[in-house]
Amino acid sequence: MKISKPGRVRRQPGRPVWLFDLDNTLHHASYAIFPRINIAMTDFIMRELGLDRAEADALRTDYTRRYGTVLVGLMRRHGIDAAAFLDEVHHFDSLSGLVRTERGLARTLRRLPGRKVLFTNAPLTYATEVLGLLGIRKVFERVIAVEQMRDRRGWQSKPDHGMLRRTLRALQARHRDAVLVEDTRSHLKAYRRTGLKTVWMVGHLHGARRVEELANVFGAQRAERLAGDADPNANPDADLGLAGELAQRQFEAPGEGFAEGATMGPDVRHPSADASGGHAQRRGESGRPHYIDRRIRSIKSL
Ligand SMILES: [Mg+2]
Repeated sequence: MKISKPGRVRRQPGRPVWLFDLDNTLHHASYAIFPRINIAMTDFIMRELGLDRAEADALRTDYTRRYGTVLVGLMRRHGIDAAAFLDEVHHFDSLSGLVRTERGLARTLRRLPGRKVLFTNAPLTYATEVLGLLGIRKVFERVIAVEQMRDRRGWQSKPDHGMLRRTLRALQARHRDAVLVEDTRSHLKAYRRTGLKTVWMVGHLHGARRVEELANVFGAQRAERLAGDADPNANPDADLGLAGELAQRQFEAPGEGFAEGATMGPDVRHPSADASGGHAQRRGESGRPHYIDRRIRSIKSL
C-alpha cells in the first residue's frame, strides 16, 4: 500500500482516529460537483468503450455499485488508463464556485479531539483542492485518496476490507479506536463489521433535507421512518421512495432532485453489496440500521 509510514504520529491507544469521507460528508458535492463528474465519466465511457449515452450511464452506475468506484470497475473490466480517467473526470476550470459546506466547519474540526484522516475514494489532486477551498487542509494529518488505496491486487476503494486493514495499520490505529464519518451507507455497513464505529452524516444528502421538510408536515417520527425506508442498500432508487411519498402528497414535483441523488456520484452506494435485502435488516430501537452508531446532520454534532 502506498501510504507513507507515520512520521511524528505515534500510536495512541484509546484516542479516536476520525476517518472522514469527503464528498457529501464535509461538503455538498451533489450541489454542483457530482453532476459535472458524472457527465464527464459518461463522456469518457462513451468514447473509450464505444457506447451510447444511455449504455454508458448504465455502466457507470452499475460499476459504482459493484466495485465501489467507476474507476475500479473500468480498470478491472477494461484496463483503462487510470491516470487519464481521473484527470479527465475531475477536471474543473475552477472549483471555487462549486464547493458549498456548513458554516464554521474548519473551527468545528479543529476543536474536535483526536486524530483526523481524510479517507476518500476521490483522487488526491481533487481532494486536496477541495480541502483547501474549505480551509481545512491542515486539520488532517493524512489524506488517503484513491491513489493511496492501491495495493498489490491493484486499484481498491471503500468499502474494501483489506484496504481498510492496511490503512489502519499504516496509521498505527486500532479498529476499535477508528470512527468512520460517511454519507454512504454501504461503506458504513461493510466497515462496521470490522469493529470501527460509524457515523452517518446526512446533512448534505438530498433525502435528508427533504426529511427536514417532511418533519414539518408529518412530524419528526414519521419523517425519520421515511428516511429509514429510503435505504440505498436495499434499492438503488431508494430515495425515489421518499420522493414518491412527497409527490403523492403533492408536496413537491415528482422526482425533483431525488432521481439524480439516488444514482449519482463517484462513490455513491452499493446496493448489490447487501445480499440480505435492506428492508429485512435489523434496526435498532431508534429505527436506525444497526450498523450506524450515530446519525448526524452536521459535523458540529460530533
Ligand atoms: Mg461521500
